[in-house]
Amino acid sequence: MNTSSYIYLDHNATTPVDQRVLEEMLPYFMQVFGNAASIDHEAGHMAKRAVETAREQCANIIHSSDPKEIIFTSGATESDNIALFGVAEKYADKGDHIITCVTEHKAILDCCKRLEQMGKRVTYLPVDQYGIVDLDALRQAITPQTILISIMFANNEIGTIAPVSEIGAIAHEHGVLFHTDAAQAVGHVPVDVEAMNIDMLSFSAHKIYGPKGIGGLYVRRRNPRVKVAPVIYGGGHELGIRSGTLNVPGIVGMGKALEIAKVEMKDEAEKYRNWTQLMFEQLRDQLGNVELNGHPIQRLPHNLNVSIKGIESRSLIVQLKNIAISTGSACTSASVDPSHVILALGFGEERAHSAIRIGIGRDNSQEQLAKATNVILNASQKLIQLTI
Ligand SMILES: *Cc1c(COP(=O)(O)O)cnc(C)c1O
Repeated sequence: MNTSSYIYLDHNATTPVDQRVLEEMLPYFMQVFGNAASIDHEAGHMAKRAVETAREQCANIIHSSDPKEIIFTSGATESDNIALFGVAEKYADKGDHIITCVTEHKAILDCCKRLEQMGKRVTYLPVDQYGIVDLDALRQAITPQTILISIMFANNEIGTIAPVSEIGAIAHEHGVLFHTDAAQAVGHVPVDVEAMNIDMLSFSAHKIYGPKGIGGLYVRRRNPRVKVAPVIYGGGHELGIRSGTLNVPGIVGMGKALEIAKVEMKDEAEKYRNWTQLMFEQLRDQLGNVELNGHPIQRLPHNLNVSIKGIESRSLIVQLKNIAISTGSACTSASVDPSHVILALGFGEERAHSAIRIGIGRDNSQEQLAKATNVILNASQKLIQLTI
């Protein structure tokens, strides 16, 4: 790939590591290589101190006042697995019912499928045309056997931000735990586990300019104290919830990435919102028949998902040689099935087959966005001409 002309616009799939993050991580590969659990000596102590600083940085950005509420994992997929299987096991005496939503990431949906095979009951709530879950349907779905509501904070394909505070309030009114997959939200939009009544929250470093293979799970320790059974057994690390020697460089990098995000998030969001808005308007005005997928306002500032009528997104994307955009989630792009998220909006298969996702990030410039818009416009116009 020619890096000088290459324009990466798929930041909802992953982000590059920020230079400042990499620099923070580097000493922890060779100089400070200790095992954070081996605190009989200074090498281990130094690693442990770095881990605890990162734990505070992670707690800080989601407004948890107790860093012990952060459990380090290998990423949001693992965090989702611990949240769902861990609660299903620990609260089996209380009930066997879980409520989630049809537009969740596969990391949630595939856990739910497995839980159903294990005899648990799962309700998959529908969404409206913007991808927002129906709160009345949520209230009606809750039964005395309901132990967990898991609804994602922000959708990875269409960017829709859920009414998280309302969901948290409903969950707590009914004494049900609330987990949210916030891999797309943390570091991008304000997240407050206290104000939003969130009991468990999954996040991942590589969606916010940290390294891949590291993430975390917030587990509330009071009002209520949440219990989760482990998915991985071993040395009892991370309060026994997630055993395994800690990935110290990864954890340090994630902490730094979130510290940076806390400071820069607001300005970045404003800039990206302007860019995605401008791109949408230009595509719509030049091509006509361009629909925005997701909510027009309650959405991630750096995400744009549009369907261009009459165009197969796959045919469009192969035309874009030096521009990286996506047809949807990375996890499903190996298959040709249309996105389950766009289908759930209820506009039919054609709109799902013509959806493209653009994810803007820190390494992009306004010039790149203008260029990418032109390239997408030209390629789309060519494809439209071919079909008429
Ligand atoms: C990326 C993503 C995941 C998976 O995170 P990993 O850290 O790659 O395991 C899960 N859920 C959502 C919403 C995501 O965007």
